[in-house]
Amino acid sequence: MPTVTHASGSYAIHTEALATAPRRLRDAGLEPGLALVVTDETVGGLYLDVLADALRADGWQPHPVVVPPGEGSKSIATFAGVCDACLAAGPSRQTPLLALGGGVVGDLGGFAAATLLRGLPLAQLPTTVLAQVDSSIGGKTGINTRRGKNLVGAFHAPLFVLADPAVLATLPEREVRSGLAEAVKHALLAGGDLFETMVAAPRWEERLAEIVPMAAAVKAAVVSGDEREAGERAFLNLGHTFGHALEAAAGYGTLTHGEAVAVGMRAALHLSASLAAGRAVEPLPEPWAAMDALVRRLDPPAVPHALTDDALVAAMTSDKKRDASGLRFVVLDGVGVPRLAQGVPEARVRAAWAFARRV
Ligand code: NAD
Ligand code: ZN
Repeated sequence: MPTVTHASGSYAIHTEALATAPRRLRDAGLEPGLALVVTDETVGGLYLDVLADALRADGWQPHPVVVPPGEGSKSIATFAGVCDACLAAGPSRQTPLLALGGGVVGDLGGFAAATLLRGLPLAQLPTTVLAQVDSSIGGKTGINTRRGKNLVGAFHAPLFVLADPAVLATLPEREVRSGLAEAVKHALLAGGDLFETMVAAPRWEERLAEIVPMAAAVKAAVVSGDEREAGERAFLNLGHTFGHALEAAAGYGTLTHGEAVAVGMRAALHLSASLAAGRAVEPLPEPWAAMDALVRRLDPPAVPHALTDDALVAAMTSDKKRDASGLRFVVLDGVGVPRLAQGVPEARVRAAWAFARRV
């Protein structure tokens, strides 16, 4: 079972049924009592009863706090409402908060847990592919402000992550695909079994129960020992310097995050190959061609014609991950061999966009 290990402690990622959450809470040393459950309307409608029944059967008093689905709920206003609804239930510092949902609920509920009474014990119960392979692991929580995404937040490690593979069956196909983009990212970063399994599996959707825990284990390994993103954790931004720019330039909500990251990873692979060769190379040589073939299986969308290269480059330079010496890119010298590239000539970046535009 994958474990995240930080200097401050460690936590496990369990792949098992939601109904085991109450037992995991007791295993973590908590006594049955009030349990706050933050979820969204969609996930709550599907899975709140199963979780609440299991909690009650184990002697807990579940107190649901339900927010509207979607990124809009990662707002100061919704956060304030969640805090108020949690406080109304009269929690103590030992009251757990269970975040049942996708990355939105995990980030919002996690941030509420980080701040309520200066910190409540948190359980992450991720229900999307993205949340199971990525957002529930690593302890980052937060909300958006009108000045940008995730600008207010806290590091708050959970007691445990409990990912039930069965809940993924109700996810819309586009959400599954979007989450799989992060799984592909982890496969490129780590290589090994995950990469081989994804290359060999003809239909990823039918192998989620195998792929998702492997991809989660890669994230767990990367964030262990780099809780605050001092080094290795930055590799998780593969495809994201390009992807965030595309997401922002297209207008948030037009493309899913995973779709934008898929296009971004193709650009990052082109950049990787051209930095290795000392010139823009097309078609991509190995090993980048094999990696690009994997990314293309995500069916990356076409970049809208209205988005010019100028607009995309401009969107990149306002990304918060830019540092003093210019843009910073995660590139791959091979499968499972990432490194950071700085001071990349703009012409290379434009060539990478031109490549990723062609689907
Ligand atoms: P999401 O939470 O909005 O979920 C996507 C949609 O699927 C929602 O409408 C939700 O109601 C629905 N849904 C969730 N589970 C379902 C299920 N089992 N069956 C049917 N429908 C279900 O989006 P997401 O993609 O999971 O997460 C995106 C968020 O994650 C972003 O806000 C992003 O910033 C954040 N994120 C955080 C981290 C981190 O390290 N904290 C990392 C990556 C992303
Ligand atoms: Zn991402």
